[in-house]
Amino acid sequence: MTQSPRDILHSIFGYESFRGPQEAIVDTIIAGGDALVLMPTGGGKSLCYQVPALARSGTAIVVSPLIALMQDQVASLVQSGVRAAYLSSTLDWQQAQAIESQLLDGRLDLLYIAPERLVTARMLDMLSRIHIALFAIDEAHCVSHWGHDFRSDYLGLSLLKEQFPQIPRIALTATADPRTRADIIERLGLQNAEIFISSFDRPNIFYRIAQKQKSLDQLEAFIRREHPGDAGIVYCLSRNKVEKTAEALNQRGIRALPYHAGLPGNVREENQTRFLREEGIIMVATVAFGMGIDKPNVRFVAHLDLPKSIESYYQETGRAGRDGLAANAWMVYGIADVIKLKSMLDQSEAGDEHRREEKRKVDAMLALCETVQCRRQLLLAHFGEHLAEPCGHCDNCIEPSPTWEATEPARMALSAVYRTGSRYGVEYLVDVLRGERTERLLANGHESLSVFGRGAELPEKEWRSIFRQLLARGFLQTDPEGFGALRLDDSCRPLLRGDATLMLRREQAKTVTPRKSGGKPALDIASEDRVLWEALRSKRRQLAQEQGVPPYVIFHDSTLMEILSARPRSLVELGRVAGVGDKKLERYGEAFLDVVIEYA
Ligand code: ADP
Ligand code: ZN
Repeated sequence: MTQSPRDILHSIFGYESFRGPQEAIVDTIIAGGDALVLMPTGGGKSLCYQVPALARSGTAIVVSPLIALMQDQVASLVQSGVRAAYLSSTLDWQQAQAIESQLLDGRLDLLYIAPERLVTARMLDMLSRIHIALFAIDEAHCVSHWGHDFRSDYLGLSLLKEQFPQIPRIALTATADPRTRADIIERLGLQNAEIFISSFDRPNIFYRIAQKQKSLDQLEAFIRREHPGDAGIVYCLSRNKVEKTAEALNQRGIRALPYHAGLPGNVREENQTRFLREEGIIMVATVAFGMGIDKPNVRFVAHLDLPKSIESYYQETGRAGRDGLAANAWMVYGIADVIKLKSMLDQSEAGDEHRREEKRKVDAMLALCETVQCRRQLLLAHFGEHLAEPCGHCDNCIEPSPTWEATEPARMALSAVYRTGSRYGVEYLVDVLRGERTERLLANGHESLSVFGRGAELPEKEWRSIFRQLLARGFLQTDPEGFGALRLDDSCRPLLRGDATLMLRREQAKTVTPRKSGGKPALDIASEDRVLWEALRSKRRQLAQEQGVPPYVIFHDSTLMEILSARPRSLVELGRVAGVGDKKLERYGEAFLDVVIEYA
């Protein structure tokens, strides 16, 4: 007899109840319908097809774009006693052969496979000969040109509807925007699918965006204060900066590895594997790293450079805290970043329409950086969600930035740009305003301008902040020809004429730290629990190493945390902890119970 979805959830996965729309999704697929699932990272997409895969007879075919992702998912399922396997180019002929014969004999519950392999004639022939439970298409946004991860292989998946019209299909993605959604429906033929859209809020992530001063020092202080021994990702824009940053962190005694597309394949792979398998490693990376990285206990994502859009920012920061425990999204940025990003757009070869679109995205990102309102409200609004109250869990909520009436200084700054002929960058303009008699300035005769020295009472830092905010709001533009030279935008006219006023955010050294962790490590373990916590972790590490799998495949941090607070005294008690299914209880129950009894 087949098990009910709830039984499967309890006995295989060890969870008490379904989360959010999971149950409705599972029911839809089990009943034979199609579904499109839009759920944020960490929302629990996997169970939406894994439970039906076990509830329906036959094998579930899961399309996944990344080998690392498939490997992890399969390893986790096998740990829970599920008959799962993957087919990928990393297997040799014999291994692949063995899995294919399991498939043909009906001995697999789930088969993970890359899209290009699925659509081969050979594979389709095999699928036509077996009993298929469902098709799951993970990372379904890869089918869209609008997305950032377009894969032409995904286009071939349209044939699933034609060739297997009776088999339910479920497409899943964390990319929410309406255009990508429409693309997925059209290209995968999901017109009749039921659509499930979850809130995209990630309540466990604390958002923070601060002014860049000495970014490495800031990063080091942040890691030492809030994340000693934690795994995290540091994103940089260029390969060169990735390597320099990783090296600098190591020199400062913080274990970090580099990852970017320019490194040899084997180095990339090794670094990725170490990040996944070892604990407490920091990955310094370009955006080439991260898609589908399934590590649930990334405790922070730090940005040393501005992402190009809110979509990228949200996706990258979303890799923190997939396990639902406290996590940090931390970023520093400064005026040089704004200028760099804007100049890159000026010089891009793309057509006009495309460039306008890119520019709109950058402006939205800058608005997020400069806002004095709740970051989460603005982020969610960007994705069409309304959050009624400020979240209380972001830097602006915890420590509001004062604003000030900056109309007069802003006009002075604009006037300095205009009077010097729109040919100079911020440094020079600040010198003019502050009345610095530099050689270059004197040679240009700019000491005779009426704005010269008119802003001497404001410190340099404040002037840079004014320029940055004028740029962010579009009153100033970078000059496509001149290196960092600024020029006026038409939109500044009302301000110059005196028809508009301007409030700006006041720079201040922020001390802000998340309330929940109060500046302590993100996973707040009481000092009397430390010994047991470390003992549990070390037992998990040992078991993982013996089998060559990442530690979180044995138990997630959230499960260890629960063991820590529940202090189970018997296998029955341990079995009630979330994440401890029957199989894992059987395999690891004694080992962890011994640790609890010895150390508690
Ligand atoms: P996604 O693929 O949407 O990013 P995952 O499927 O990896 O998310 O799930 C994220 C985390 O939430 C995992 O640690 C998973 O075990 C946990 N999880 C998912 N569903 C439940 C549930 N119903 N109860 C408890 N934990 C869950
Ligand atoms: Zn907030």
